[in-house]
Amino acid sequence: MPEKTQCRAEDREAKLGTLEGRVALVTGASRGIGRAIAVGLAGEGAKVAVNFQSDSSGAGETAALVAEAGSRALMVQADLRDPEAVSALFAETEKVLGPVDILIANAGITRDGLALRMSPEQWDDVIATDLTAPFLCTKAALRHMMKARWGRVVFISSVAGLKGNAGQANYSAAKAGLLGLAKSLAREVGSRGITVNVVAPGFIETDMTSGLDEKVRDAALEQIPSESFGQPEDVAAAVVFLSGPDAGYINGAVLPVDGGMSM
Ligand code: NAP
Repeated sequence: MPEKTQCRAEDREAKLGTLEGRVALVTGASRGIGRAIAVGLAGEGAKVAVNFQSDSSGAGETAALVAEAGSRALMVQADLRDPEAVSALFAETEKVLGPVDILIANAGITRDGLALRMSPEQWDDVIATDLTAPFLCTKAALRHMMKARWGRVVFISSVAGLKGNAGQANYSAAKAGLLGLAKSLAREVGSRGITVNVVAPGFIETDMTSGLDEKVRDAALEQIPSESFGQPEDVAAAVVFLSGPDAGYINGAVLPVDGGMSM
């Protein structure tokens, strides 16, 4: 059996727990989808670095849930728009938990408005948080992954990145950019046992969507064949799978988790 095929087979058979001994870093894990991902990965045995920007009490709650799931958590504050903060985030994680084997680039923001009225600040802020930060985090993570010849990177994109969305030119551009970034990286590092994939959630019930008015929610629901909104755990299940030993031959893929909304 060729060496790389053998490695994947061994990975699958080991089912170590299934992420026992792995270190995961989840950006934007103080609430919502990031929190569910952190807890999901912990449930499979991974130690989890819980990154947040400002909500330390939310990050504390996530860390407590990770501990409840039987794993170790580290809370790390970092504003991912700042490249130095990204370096410090990885240094701190490595010092306390070990080098990052699994990177989930989840942190994201919206600054909605019609493109004609969108300010350069609205554009820049979203591109910096939703596209440049995942690039910076991946660069920092790949150093160890390349040496270890094993790694998992998952970007959290959006249905808006697949289809576009009126009022979200900045967000859609950033989220679509993640697809190109993931596919290019998958080609660059696939030979080293590293996979880079994208999960594209549809309408998920979190703080990001709770402020939307009833009309917008009703219109969204009409576009969802599964006739319900998603929960953070629906997204986490896909991310945990892509992070695990059974997903070693999935690379450069885009997986919608949207009840069929993007069809
Ligand atoms: P959320 O509840 O608004 O949480 C966003 C998270 O990102 C928070 O933990 C926040 O940290 C963190 N964050 C924001 N800016 C940051 C920065 N500069 N540095 C570090 N962390 C930062 O969002 P969510 O709904 O869970 O969404 C998570 C991801 O899924 C995002 O990428 C979003 O675009 C994507 N998504 C969401 C939906 C949906 O329907 N909810 C749909 C498609 C895609 P603090 O709390 O500390 O500020």
